[in-house]
Amino acid sequence: MRVKESHKKMNEVLERLKKEYPVTGPFLDWTTPLELVVATALSAQCTDERVNMVTKDLFKKYKTAQDYAQADISALEQEVYSTGFYRNKAKNLKKMGEVLVRDYDGEVPRDFKELQKLPGVAKKTAAIIMSKVFDQHESVAVDTHVHRIAPLLGFAPLGASIEQVRKSLNGIVPTEDYLNINELMITHGRAVCIARRPQCAKCILIDLCPQGQNNIKDI
Ligand code: SF4
Repeated sequence: MRVKESHKKMNEVLERLKKEYPVTGPFLDWTTPLELVVATALSAQCTDERVNMVTKDLFKKYKTAQDYAQADISALEQEVYSTGFYRNKAKNLKKMGEVLVRDYDGEVPRDFKELQKLPGVAKKTAAIIMSKVFDQHESVAVDTHVHRIAPLLGFAPLGASIEQVRKSLNGIVPTEDYLNINELMITHGRAVCIARRPQCAKCILIDLCPQGQNNIKDI
């Protein structure tokens, strides 16, 4: 697809998805930048609903970077246990607290690259934090739904890596919609373009989706 066509198609996809989902979500609960960093780190390989159940209590106990830095690692492991990969996640949260206290006066840095220096924070998390907390759109955040759906729609080759999808979307999504495309694709991925059983016949994007048209042919 040529660049101009990709832009046009993306604008159409955005317009339709915004109309279809005037309210997106539910997403992670948070009230401070630190809470969003923690919740996003816990959401790897876990549903937002599960993370919200865990953080409801976690955020009452750990309120500052210092609290995570001083955490008892066994207690923290138990507290994040049900989000999966609990040993790694607990270790990263404690280290993240230490790094924030040591290098950033306990504050979450307002910088895309600096955020990625925090343990457990990669480009996806950094992009979400920059958009949601600081209203600065540095990159599309490519989560599992975006990674799956963007190639189906022809915005990246089928089988493209997360990084390939990210670069491709960053080139064709208007900057102010970087967060929107993430939240809209997640919402569409949960409701209609469900992994392994996409509901193509009732998808509002069917005429724009090469994969969907193939799926319909096979029915
Ligand atoms: S047409 Fe099918 S594969 Fe394409 S986005 Fe819609 S549900 Fe997904």
